[in-house]
Amino acid sequence: MIELRQIGEQVWSRTVMLGGEAHVATYLVGGDGWALIDTGVKFPPGDPRSLSRSALARIPGFDDLDHIVLTHGHYDHVGGVAALAAEYPAAQIYLHPADRRMASSAIVQSEEMAAFAKAWNLPEKAASMEAHINERMTGVHPEYDLADGMRIDLGGGALIEVIALPGHTAGSVAFRLAAEDITFVGDAVQGWGSRTGSWPFYADPTSYRDSLKRLASYGPQRLAMAHGYHCGLPFNSAVLGASDVLAALELSVSVVDAIEREVLKGQPGRPALEMAREVVHALLDEIPARTEPTTGLPNHAGMALWAHGLRSSTTPHQ
Ligand SMILES: [Zn+2]
Repeated sequence: MIELRQIGEQVWSRTVMLGGEAHVATYLVGGDGWALIDTGVKFPPGDPRSLSRSALARIPGFDDLDHIVLTHGHYDHVGGVAALAAEYPAAQIYLHPADRRMASSAIVQSEEMAAFAKAWNLPEKAASMEAHINERMTGVHPEYDLADGMRIDLGGGALIEVIALPGHTAGSVAFRLAAEDITFVGDAVQGWGSRTGSWPFYADPTSYRDSLKRLASYGPQRLAMAHGYHCGLPFNSAVLGASDVLAALELSVSVVDAIEREVLKGQPGRPALEMAREVVHALLDEIPARTEPTTGLPNHAGMALWAHGLRSSTTPHQ
């Protein structure tokens, strides 16, 4: 069983390795009631990585799960909702409506995320992405909509404020727990990416950059991220303290700016995959890169560059 780790007065975290370097963090916040922020992926029944009643029961004062609040609709955040909701049927589930469609079905989501791989004639990459998402996600239909400025009061002084941070997905949000000055940002702050040598990714570079600046304007003291994003620190912690928050936000902005700059240098009409590899190469001094054999690109770079507009066909004659 994977234990929850206390990271604040009334805040616990749980980080699960998914294989390779991938890992995902979820957070539990307590007041009079309790809220879980993201659920992680779906695991087979009985898998020790599943978040179980017995793990939650070890938290002092925990009695029941009242809310499941989702930072966005990606499978590694919502994939475990269905299993957990079956264990806690009274829990209210919240998601921003802009991510409702992608959360509704693993097939919908995997098609969306693998779109670049299909368009760029990378069938092996597309097939592995689709298989992985289908294995790790059950679609969900949350009954409560999140909106910017909305508040979820857990009682006992634990008030969660919703901050809309579109960009990574259209419906990405952060949850700010003012009492402890911890802001749970999901995937809204990406730095260089979530794994060594991977890239950041987002559906819309412009709104992603605007959201980073908006988040900085709140002057957050602690960021609780959903993965150990690489932001210049020599470790994979998903929680950043005050001395690292501003640097992580500035780094994330500089990375998206650098990608955009290099994409704009490309000549229109050239094969997107070739241009993508050139952009990755041109940015080696600014974004650490380790390429995957199936694509010749760092993990997530295809999705990011697709979002930056590299969408032409892979062969100039098509
Ligand atoms: Zn995500």
